[in-house]
Amino acid sequence: GGDEFAWLVDHHMDHADVAKFGERCRSLLAKSFTYDGNVLNIYASIGVAFAPLDAGTDEDLLKAADLALYAAKEAGRDTLRCYEAELSRKSQYKHDMVNDLRKSIGSEDFFLVYQPQINFGDGDPTGFEALLRWNRPGYGLVMPLEFIPLLEETGLIVPLGAWVMERACRDAMTWPSHLTIAVNLSGIQIERSNVLSMIDGVLAKTGLAPARLEVELTESTIMKEIADVRPLLKALRDRGIRVALDDFGTGYSSLAYLSEFPFTKIKIDRSFITPICGADSTIARAIIRTITQLAHTLHLETTAEGIETLEQEEALNSMGCRHGQGYFYAKPISFEDTAIFLDAHKKAAVGREQSAPSAGRKKYAAA
Ligand code: C2E
Ligand code: MG
Ligand code: MG
Repeated sequence: GGDEFAWLVDHHMDHADVAKFGERCRSLLAKSFTYDGNVLNIYASIGVAFAPLDAGTDEDLLKAADLALYAAKEAGRDTLRCYEAELSRKSQYKHDMVNDLRKSIGSEDFFLVYQPQINFGDGDPTGFEALLRWNRPGYGLVMPLEFIPLLEETGLIVPLGAWVMERACRDAMTWPSHLTIAVNLSGIQIERSNVLSMIDGVLAKTGLAPARLEVELTESTIMKEIADVRPLLKALRDRGIRVALDDFGTGYSSLAYLSEFPFTKIKIDRSFITPICGADSTIARAIIRTITQLAHTLHLETTAEGIETLEQEEALNSMGCRHGQGYFYAKPISFEDTAIFLDAHKKAAVGREQSAPSAGRKKYAAA
């Protein structure tokens, strides 16, 4: 069907024979040909299953070959994979997980935690980032990297992402009005739904000022959905909504779209922050300096992700980065704990003010 076909080979073959056979098929297909003046290439992913080793019926044999094909595609396409029992287990695991995700939509199994974002200058929080968590019935807490790809694959990220936006904006309404709320947006939401009208609806419903909302998009989302992202970002900025480029440095890192798209902030990925105080910090430091200088020229804020030590904060500040987020300040906390965090922070700030009034709360007076 479509671009797939099955080939039944009625010979005794072992794994080595099949590998050779597959290699021949692929090299024949891979020969480029010219059509209408264009040079075209075809690549094939091949999944192989053996009878009676892997399956006892024709239906099961096709199913096993299909799982192997899926594994070949996952391994980067243009390759051959043979069926293994592990593939069935994985597929079953995924199938169960998708079922459970579906059941959890609309229930309290999903909840948000919030991680504060800090201004290095005075140490004050500027806002929080909302991060999704799933309490999978029968299993316990599951982290987003495990379930967000499945939500995206199934399209469930569309209703759930709308829920995240509303919940986060509603929660933000209880914080002091200078604090922002950052919400992660998936490319699938942009591709398969009208994100702009969803956000308009949430802002109208919750009463949150647009300037308090910050939408986070990753580089790979921007690359994949480039046609839809351009007008979306413009419309968001027209409303005064802030737009952050998340995980900067991990994707394609095209500097061109830093000036092409109307971002307000770059979030420097944790992978550059972790090494800056280690033995081999030269490259990471050079990259961070370059990013902050570029951001400064383009009038963009920079936030460093994953700060875990004071040493890292000081190094980042000396390199021109002014905001950060990480376990050093706080791990993501429950909504209830955000009030406690803000209260404790306020008391600490007042304490500092009283003990050294002339110094104010400037931590980096010379910066
Ligand atoms: P992200 O948006 O880059 O979020 C930052 C991640 O880094 C969070 O992981 C956070 O817990 C973690 N982190 C923060 N500070 C530190 C630190 O000091 N050390 C270390 N080791 N880690 C730190 P989390 O919560 O597991 O989220 C992972 C990713 O899942 C997020 O990366 C984001 O891309 C995605 N995600 C989370 N919630 C949502 C959501 O509601 N919608 C969408 N589309 N994606 C989400
Ligand atoms: Mg983020
Ligand atoms: Mg990030």
